[in-house]
Amino acid sequence: MSSAISRRKFAGFVGATLGASAFPSWIGASPKAAASPSSTDWVRLSSNENPYPLTPRALEALARAARSASRYPDEAEDETRAAIARSHGVAPEQIVLGCGSSDILHMADAAFLGPGKTVVAAEPTFEAVLLHARVTNSEAIKVPLTSDFRHDLAGMAAACDARTGLVYVCNPNNPTGTIVGGDELEAFFARVPPSTVVLVDEAYHHFVESPRYRTAAGMIERFPNVVVARTFSKIYGMAGMRLGYGIASRANAETLGRQASWNNTNAAGLQIALAGLADPDLVPTQRRRLNDTRRWLCGELERDKRRFIPSETNFLMIEVGRDVAPVILAFREKRIQVGRKFPSLSNWLRVSIGTREETAAFLSALRDIVPARAAA
Ligand code: PLP
Repeated sequence: MSSAISRRKFAGFVGATLGASAFPSWIGASPKAAASPSSTDWVRLSSNENPYPLTPRALEALARAARSASRYPDEAEDETRAAIARSHGVAPEQIVLGCGSSDILHMADAAFLGPGKTVVAAEPTFEAVLLHARVTNSEAIKVPLTSDFRHDLAGMAAACDARTGLVYVCNPNNPTGTIVGGDELEAFFARVPPSTVVLVDEAYHHFVESPRYRTAAGMIERFPNVVVARTFSKIYGMAGMRLGYGIASRANAETLGRQASWNNTNAAGLQIALAGLADPDLVPTQRRRLNDTRRWLCGELERDKRRFIPSETNFLMIEVGRDVAPVILAFREKRIQVGRKFPSLSNWLRVSIGTREETAAFLSALRDIVPARAAA
């Protein structure tokens, strides 16, 4: 990718450029310390990754891909695009592949923003769209979440005007894990000007269990200004392989695709994704084990009488009753990497759901670092 902003550098960047208080952690820590959490003896619960290894089927696909590593992956891209299109009941021309869904977010900024345009997003939400938007010289309009930590869709619709090039709806929202329902989303789309593109980021789609939720992918036919971003990084456990995609009207897919660099995917990721899409057990198995672990953690937090935001994802926001920056550092001392600080929720800690053992290690460290009384 052309962008120099990596996930780990995110919060340091946010702190330095968006007015948040800068503090040392791996998000802005010394280079030596920053390198260490990647070692295997760390418990890594910071990037909402899937902690489980690739399935045997996926490993076979990886071995197959290795045999064609010397070739550009054009045919595999076509095959993957077709398989994704089939899974959504759309035409392959409506699918844009990306180097992770971050790439799709980047393309959307480049395609639909520019000087004089505005981008409307919730606060807090996943920062990538707003960060890339700065490069386009667009103005960011941030609409605070509701008191129950959900997107304020009415407020976001009201923030749209003729200058709005892009509205970003992260559903479920990172970092809060909350959703907006399908009916709410449709009512919102009906209020946004048709000339404004609404980018719905569904990175955590597969974890959602609420019956109120519906993917926006099925709404594109009625609202052609809607673009949906999906990723193989989360439930498919492919964060290191970098594959995501956008679903859009043919016209918007073409506009997005013009921003893509050639072969922005790789042979290995494509083959593993194809194997994952063909595996009927992968998604249900991963959802069950990660959601069960989240439920277990929530039960323990309730026993401690701690406040947390009910989540539909593989991460959870927990109130710690004080600025989270030193808390993050205290976890670090115990070789546990937790999520970055989100300045507008500065007393909240985001933790990704790991294996049961990793999550238990987190809980034990939490009880030590922030005794339940202190969090209340
Ligand atoms: N969107 C959301 C909401 C995320 O939380 C993330 C990653 O954490 C991404 C997009 C980007 O993921 P990737 O580029 O790995 O697909």
